[in-house]
Amino acid sequence: MTLIVDAHEDIAWNILCYGRDYTRSALVTRAQETEAVIAETGLATLGLPEWLAGGVGVIFGTLFTRPRRSKFASPFSKSYTTAEEAFSQAMQQIDIYRRLADEHNQFRLIATRSDLEDALAPRQPPPENGGRQIGIVLLMENADPIRKPDEVERWYDEGVRLIGPAWMGTRYCGGTGEPGPLTDDGVRLLRYMQDLNLVLDTSHMAEQAFFQAIDRYGGPVIASHSNPRHYVNGDRHLSDDMIRALVQRDGVIGIVPFNKFLVPGWERGDRKDAASVSTIVRAIDYVCQRAGDAQHAGLGTDFDGGFGAEATPAGIDTIADLQKIGDGLREAGYTSSDIEAVMSGNWLRVLRRSLPD
Ligand SMILES: [Zn+2]
Repeated sequence: MTLIVDAHEDIAWNILCYGRDYTRSALVTRAQETEAVIAETGLATLGLPEWLAGGVGVIFGTLFTRPRRSKFASPFSKSYTTAEEAFSQAMQQIDIYRRLADEHNQFRLIATRSDLEDALAPRQPPPENGGRQIGIVLLMENADPIRKPDEVERWYDEGVRLIGPAWMGTRYCGGTGEPGPLTDDGVRLLRYMQDLNLVLDTSHMAEQAFFQAIDRYGGPVIASHSNPRHYVNGDRHLSDDMIRALVQRDGVIGIVPFNKFLVPGWERGDRKDAASVSTIVRAIDYVCQRAGDAQHAGLGTDFDGGFGAEATPAGIDTIADLQKIGDGLREAGYTSSDIEAVMSGNWLRVLRRSLPD
């Protein structure tokens, strides 16, 4: 089984808003949730048994906050209007990750390179999970919780290692559905991030802000969960120029196995089998063809990120099914080392370069 690194899961958000218990199987979660919750967030796809069965070793776990003006705001989910509210909601999510790691030894937080190597190393005696812990690296999606740019250091001390300045537009830059540049505070934010060698996650950044950030940011850059615009057009996705810019900076792009991001015109309620594993492979291959190698594509599933098993390609029911993507790459002619790069190696390269000792 190939090790998998998944660059985007909103774990704490789901615990905070829906009370999901991720030590249980996704199938148990599904059976216990109300129709109203499932209508909002979809059929659960994440759970400890599935992470283990799928060989998922490292996850970028988000601190995700949602502005109240979002069309997705709902009675179940938290939202904010002020930086202060965003701050406290993101801090709550840090506490959630800490509790998860404190109370269950299958999970551990990764803040340093040695944490990473420990999480990847088989342990003695091997526990039931085959000797591997699930490591979680903290990724802030939407930087509004950072009340002032110089507060980056505080979040770093709390363990945040990747920051995506945007979701919709934020105080720092234009975002999905809200085009715009980096603001003055956005420019300052990047400066503080660079001092700490934080990873800049460009997913959700508006195109104008994206290119400004690429030009001025000297630290590592990625797109944790973004697909090529070639298949589904729109500002949520990456143009060929954006893909090329990330590749030139040795960045990695996490492909999202979500039908809406893979099949043009697909909407909630449309057929699951409108996409298949080969549709995911096609999107990965698109990035690899632009790059000229397999060093810049990865997985960023965004599973349980506002959609569920009803909206993932046929053959992908839970996170345990991600290994099928490796099989699909093999059928498409990818070598074992290229498959390993896409499934985990490329993200590990980013982490090993950016995490402190
Ligand atoms: Zn997102």
